[in-house]
Amino acid sequence: MSLIVYTHPDCLAHQPPPGHPERPERLEAALRGIDQMDQVELRDAAAVDPQDLARVHGCNYLESLAALEASGSLMNLDPDTYLGRGSLQAARLAAGAVCSGVDQVINDPGRAVFAVVRPPGHHAESARAMGFCLLNSIAAGARRATDHHGLKRVAAVDFDVHHGNGTEAILRGDPRFLFVSSHQAPLYPGTGDPARTTDSNVLNATLTANSGSDEFRSLWTEHLLPSLDRFRPELILVSAGFDGHWRDPLAQLQLKDEDYYWIGEQLKGLADKHASGRLVASLEGGYDLTALTESVLAFAEGIE
Ligand SMILES: [Zn+2]
Repeated sequence: MSLIVYTHPDCLAHQPPPGHPERPERLEAALRGIDQMDQVELRDAAAVDPQDLARVHGCNYLESLAALEASGSLMNLDPDTYLGRGSLQAARLAAGAVCSGVDQVINDPGRAVFAVVRPPGHHAESARAMGFCLLNSIAAGARRATDHHGLKRVAAVDFDVHHGNGTEAILRGDPRFLFVSSHQAPLYPGTGDPARTTDSNVLNATLTANSGSDEFRSLWTEHLLPSLDRFRPELILVSAGFDGHWRDPLAQLQLKDEDYYWIGEQLKGLADKHASGRLVASLEGGYDLTALTESVLAFAEGIE
């Protein structure tokens, strides 16, 4: 069945300074991958409902972002994370795309959804922007699924090369959620050490620099996918980051396009088994434009 893609041209309006890896061209590169698919339905994302943000971010934090944006100048929120005119609307559209995707797959299950948006969200914590991320789209979608739709078990799966510290911090300790992540270690942001993971609803697994397809697939096949299977999620949300690709400049994994097809197919298989096919993915990292086009296409074909 054909994939539904939510995106919006205003996601281009978030503009960190020249030379920043999380640049508007990423969105265009990702959409070039989607354009190569035979069957895809493109929909305009809508800005997230403020209630969906209020479930995962503190109101002081949200007010401070709005106040900073209103000042009109481009500023640093941390050494890597910028906010300027248009940034917050882009982030609201990114989170809105995931929340609309959640509504879509719950109301009409079967077709997977891919939010092809930016900025990414998985490093954003309840009260802190970091790692290029302003609003945590996947956490907002997860809480919408439980609090608004009444789902009992929602999985947040993260294969971005960086640990999704923000998603983990927001969802940990709540048994309605299972957070599952593979990431390179050591690497930014330095969290996600399996030995230090104490919450039973958090499953972290690490890969060392230069790990490739074999190590990645073994880790998921032997460890992460079986846990996800046992959780029997009613919905699978995916932080789909493609910065584990061998071409990516920000990390040192050696994944190939086919690995993104493979993980997409595995996750869709579990969504079909337990969740009537309900799967919503959101674009996180991926900073080589050529790799991003090809990996997004491969992953999208895996989940369709
Ligand atoms: Zn990343």
